[in-house]
Amino acid sequence: MRIGIIGCGQLARMLALAGWPLGLKFSFLAEPGDTGDCVRGLGELVPMPDGFEAMAITELAEKVYTSLEKPDVITVEKESVPVDLLEALKKYCAVYPDPKAVRICQNRGCEKEFIEGVGAAMAPKIVVNTAAELKLAIEQLGFPVIVKTCEDGYDGLNQWKMDTAGDLTEFLESRDSIVESVVEKRVNFSREISLILVRAADGRTASYPATQNWHEGGILRASLAPAQDIDEGLAKQIQDLTERVLGNIDYVGVLAIECFVVDGKLLVNELAPRVHNSGHWTQQGAATSQFENHLRAIAGLPLGSTEVHGFAGMVNLLGVEVTAQTALKPNAFFHTYNKSVRPNRKVGHINIVHNDAEAMKKQLDATIAAIYSD
Ligand code: AMP
Repeated sequence: MRIGIIGCGQLARMLALAGWPLGLKFSFLAEPGDTGDCVRGLGELVPMPDGFEAMAITELAEKVYTSLEKPDVITVEKESVPVDLLEALKKYCAVYPDPKAVRICQNRGCEKEFIEGVGAAMAPKIVVNTAAELKLAIEQLGFPVIVKTCEDGYDGLNQWKMDTAGDLTEFLESRDSIVESVVEKRVNFSREISLILVRAADGRTASYPATQNWHEGGILRASLAPAQDIDEGLAKQIQDLTERVLGNIDYVGVLAIECFVVDGKLLVNELAPRVHNSGHWTQQGAATSQFENHLRAIAGLPLGSTEVHGFAGMVNLLGVEVTAQTALKPNAFFHTYNKSVRPNRKVGHINIVHNDAEAMKKQLDATIAAIYSD
């Protein structure tokens, strides 16, 4: 079976690495600017057809499908994909997750509407399109706030924290106009957790234990799983949220939900319709990795166990040069993405496993300190 992946970054790489032992073959669609370094050697790499910008979507879909060597299933490794193209590709083969789910997650405004619609809690927010609306929204929400553009915002990009009226003035003076954005009340969370869920085409679902995450400048730096001190109340909220989301979206594949915990209450921050950075620990920490389970789900194979033995941690390598020689330990595993190093760029990660929670956290902290000492 051939899997077509729209995109060719590190998530595509890790999907392919998980799929090869299953006998799956891969084709990657590289969008303009994608180098394909991450997936080199793992399948056929196809650039967007020449002149694609001017093509009718039906013509483009046919060209893409045939140039990808007619995959049996098409999937995505990022949110920022042309959803109309995904829709048009459904004429040729299954496209998972459904483009409708990708469309919801592409725009923070739509995403928040969906989250609200399923009855899940989130930080107070207002969608704005003009400077006047922005000012009014901040008056209503009160400082501190965080402003995030509805589109093209990830890893802390296109986000601005504002604490005072001075910050707002400075922000408005630095631009001619504002694009559609979500203004959110900044919540004082005790921690951030994420849920990695998977659903197969026949409706079977599985979920990994909640993951605890630490961000730096909006970018994930480290994860620990299972998240510790999940009391009964929080466990119930996690279960309820999982059911509400999966029950309201026609979804096949891995879906990630990022959340804040504020005074014991679970608030949803965002959804990701794909394998997720906070699920990388599953490569060594769970019976089946999120990558393999995504492939199993979209390829119509039985889902794998999400059982975890002991504890797992993950440290992202962000703009740092680390080699296998220094990263590897008996219980530490190195994953490189074959990318050149640039400031803050995700170039790899280290997974750690341990059967003792305290020792796990200690080793995770020591690894972070060693990598980001300066
Ligand atoms: P996002 O791109 O929405 O995932 O935001 C990146 C990071 O910014 C989050 O993981 C949080 O650490 C922080 N952040 C985002 N929204 C809020 C909020 N409403 N209150 C407090 N921190 C936030």
